Amino acid sequence: MLLDIQDIHVHYGKIEALKGISLQVDEGEIVTLIGANGAGKSTTLKTISGLRPLSSGKVVFEGRDISKMPGHKRVLVGIGQSPEGRGVFPGMTVEENLYMGAYARKGDASKTLAEVYELFPRLAERKKQFGGTMSGGEQQMVAIGRALMTDPKVLLLDEPSMGLAPMLIQQIFDIIKEINRRGKTVLVVEQNAQQALSLAHRAYVLETGAVVKSAPARELLDDPQVRAAYLGGD
Ligand code: ATP
Repeated sequence: MLLDIQDIHVHYGKIEALKGISLQVDEGEIVTLIGANGAGKSTTLKTISGLRPLSSGKVVFEGRDISKMPGHKRVLVGIGQSPEGRGVFPGMTVEENLYMGAYARKGDASKTLAEVYELFPRLAERKKQFGGTMSGGEQQMVAIGRALMTDPKVLLLDEPSMGLAPMLIQQIFDIIKEINRRGKTVLVVEQNAQQALSLAHRAYVLETGAVVKSAPARELLDDPQVRAAYLGGD
């Protein structure tokens, strides 16, 4: 098992945002976390990447307890996150933004850069353009590309479809599938449950800081409760 989250509790002040979440991600999988606003999806990702401290529980990566490891070291062991809201540097070019993902890496990142450009030809076309002048969809590509530049063993994606037009959402999800097909493990948080469940192998449903369901993603697409709550279905 690549990533093993064991009974994590996380607080914002007195508010308990995560009330004992456990989840696992195996190598080669796409796993998705779905749930309503405020369910704790982003907090779970931030806890895995080390941006939020744990109150209790464990984050185990490749068999090693990294619960107390600072975020910048987690990048080095193979946890790469593309944050919610993208965080593209507006005054840097696309290529400079991408290289920010590689600054802590040892060795040459040019091969990874070529792979990122292969996945996102649009970024190759616009590599000299400033980040701030890119469209929402293009900035999402920069954010995912930058996370890939860390050469992660697991890629954490927070709401990659947020704010994008339907055609672009499809494009981003197709690229995530391709990233996985090329061997990357992916953990993706999404409010767009339909797309996320169509993409992922397995899924966890979060409600108010707890996992209420976990199953193969395809099963959840047919689950009446999930359909009613998250897929706008009957
Ligand atoms: P969203 O899609 O809206 O980001 P989410 O499922 O990712 O939802 P989280 O953002 O993880 O949910 O939030 C979980 C809980 O923690 C919510 O009750 C939220 O109000 C609270 N929370 C999140 N960030 C903060 C913060 N910086 N300060 C205080 N409370 C927070």
